[in-house]
Amino acid sequence: MKRIYLDYNSSTPLDERVIEAMNQYLKKFGNPSNLHSFGREMREGIEVARKKVANFLNCQPEEIFFTSGGTEANNWAVKGLAFKRLSEGKKGHLITTAIEHASVLNAAQFLERLGFAVTYLMPDGKGWISPEKVEESLREDTFLVSIMHSNNEIGTLQPIGEIAQILREREIFFHTDAVASAGKIELNVKELGVDGLTISAHKLHGPKGVGALYLRKGTEIENLIHGGHHELGLRSGTENALGIVGFGKACEISQEEMAKVVPKIRDLRDYLEEEIEKRIPDILFNGHREKRLCNTSSVSFGYIEGEALLMNLDLEGVAVSSGSACSAGEVSHVLKAISLPPEFLNSTVRFSLGRENTKEEIDYTLSVLERVVKRLREISPLRREEKWKR
Ligand code: PMP
Repeated sequence: MKRIYLDYNSSTPLDERVIEAMNQYLKKFGNPSNLHSFGREMREGIEVARKKVANFLNCQPEEIFFTSGGTEANNWAVKGLAFKRLSEGKKGHLITTAIEHASVLNAAQFLERLGFAVTYLMPDGKGWISPEKVEESLREDTFLVSIMHSNNEIGTLQPIGEIAQILREREIFFHTDAVASAGKIELNVKELGVDGLTISAHKLHGPKGVGALYLRKGTEIENLIHGGHHELGLRSGTENALGIVGFGKACEISQEEMAKVVPKIRDLRDYLEEEIEKRIPDILFNGHREKRLCNTSSVSFGYIEGEALLMNLDLEGVAVSSGSACSAGEVSHVLKAISLPPEFLNSTVRFSLGRENTKEEIDYTLSVLERVVKRLREISPLRREEKWKR
């Protein structure tokens, strides 16, 4: 059976060139902290990768801190800033949004339990957060704002640059989770004007279990992981050298090829949406129509369960998500926050495309989708109730 992968926002396949770069380090084993040649060759791999990640984000290598992934980097940004205040005997207020990834939302909720005040901004119906809303929510004691660069479920891009301007004047630390954006849109921390930014390797054809937090030089942040001197003494633990080498290569490739790859992915995604609209009635597209990622399409199919659709598509070889990979099985907090009508809340699937997808794959997906949706609607009690009412 054909297998078609349309879930690139969950994870991406390793690029062959990344595998090759990692292969060169697979048999090296020195501890990068050692001064001998075994250690030095590992250190070299890590530092070359750090430069590549820094280039990718347009910052200095010393502003890149490697972590175990996006989840850790988000936790560190949010808690690290708050713990710094705690260590100075202060608490305070932070602002985030109701549509963040769980690693930001749950970290913020944890800080609430420690006595911090948190504002969770609600987006509009398209998942967009207005800079005015951010400005209105600021307090005298606001020390941190964390707003995602783009949403992984519906693809909406946030006005990060505008929000940064508002916060810069007030010297409030601004962190953005750019995990979903990396590789799909340019991320230039200087142009964006952010103080902290998270990315994760496995979303851009790199390995799992490695990510990075950009921290503007001079940031005062508490450690999340205490220990030795690694990562300028801020994130301890012997580095995941192999993963870091792969991450660096993935960033380099993405930087070189993004301009070529993005239009191709966007065309395919737009074709998928146009055809869905033509062939299948009673659907809704979620998220902003223009300000959005090139690869993401969140679609609600009236009268059917998203999970049933997902599983039926999977049986025919097509892999999609019903929400984000991290919250499979639960009603999406993002779809709730954009006030999707209740009858559509459980009827949504996310198609997220990548550079390996072809038009043939999309055509195959469309034909399966059309057939499966029709069949599920025929047996849908919701559909029968609706007909009954008419
Ligand atoms: N933020 C967003 C927007 C994500 O989509 C993800 C991954 N699902 C993460 C953070 C967490 O990244 P990681 O998988 O590297 O922990």
